[in-house]
Amino acid sequence: CGIVGYIGYREAAPLLLRGLQRLEYRGYDSAGVAVLNSGLSVLKQKGSVGDLKKTFELSGDCMQGSTLGIGHTRWATHGDPSDRNAHPHLSRDGKTAMIHNGIIENYTALKKELSSEGYLFSSDTDSEVLIHLIDSIWNAHPEFDLETAVRNALYHIDGAYGLCVISEREPDKIIVARKGSPLVIGIGEGEFFIASDAAPIVEHTRRVVYLSDGEMAVLTRDSYLVKTVENVLKEKRVSELDFEL
Ligand code: GLU
Repeated sequence: CGIVGYIGYREAAPLLLRGLQRLEYRGYDSAGVAVLNSGLSVLKQKGSVGDLKKTFELSGDCMQGSTLGIGHTRWATHGDPSDRNAHPHLSRDGKTAMIHNGIIENYTALKKELSSEGYLFSSDTDSEVLIHLIDSIWNAHPEFDLETAVRNALYHIDGAYGLCVISEREPDKIIVARKGSPLVIGIGEGEFFIASDAAPIVEHTRRVVYLSDGEMAVLTRDSYLVKTVENVLKEKRVSELDFEL
C-alpha cells in the first residue's frame, strides 16, 4: 500500500517512521521498516505506525546509526493482516530485505518452484516469492550485482509492483522498480527519498522524479540512475512539487 525509502546522512529509522505516518491516510493494516548499519535490522508488525514507533522506541537500538532504509504500510491482499505477513520480507540469509506494493499474479507457480529449490516461506503473502526469487538468482549468479539480480527476478513476475530492495551484500544502495504501482524519487543534497506518493517527500525536498511503468532506479548517496527493466538508461525530467504543506 505505502512505500518509503531513504538514503543519505540522516538517522534513517525515525525519518522512515515519519514518512509512513504521512502515508497513513491511504489506509493499511500493518507496518514495517528495515535499515542497514553494520547489518540489516527489521521491525514489522500488525497495527498502526504509532504502534510500530512504540516498538522502535523500546527495541529499536539496533537501528541506530543507520542512514539508509525502507518502510512499508501494508494493505493485505494475500495472507491475513499479521506480524509475519507485514513487510519487509527477508531473504533466507537475512541479508536482503524487500517491500512490495501490488499483487504478484503468478505467485503460486513461483512459490512451488522456489519451494522445490528448498526455500521455506515465512509468510502467506504473494510478495515473499519475489525476495526468494531475487536470492535464488543472485546465488546462482554470484557475479551479478543487486540491481541485476532484481532485474532478472522481475522478468519472471506477472502482476503489479512498486518495490524497494536493500542488501547487506551491497550496503550503500537502494534498488526500486515500478509496474502499475506508483513511485516517486525525491532529490535532496546528498540524500534521496523514495515514496509511493509525494506526501512523505514534500517536507524534505520539492524536486522529484516520477518513475514510469517498467522503470527501475539505483540510488546511492550521491547519485541516482533510472533504467528500464530491460536495462536501457533513461533520461528523466526533474519536476518541482508545488503543493502546500
Ligand atoms: N500483496 C501484498 C501483500 O498482501 C502487498 C499489499 C500492499 O500493496 O500493501 O502483502
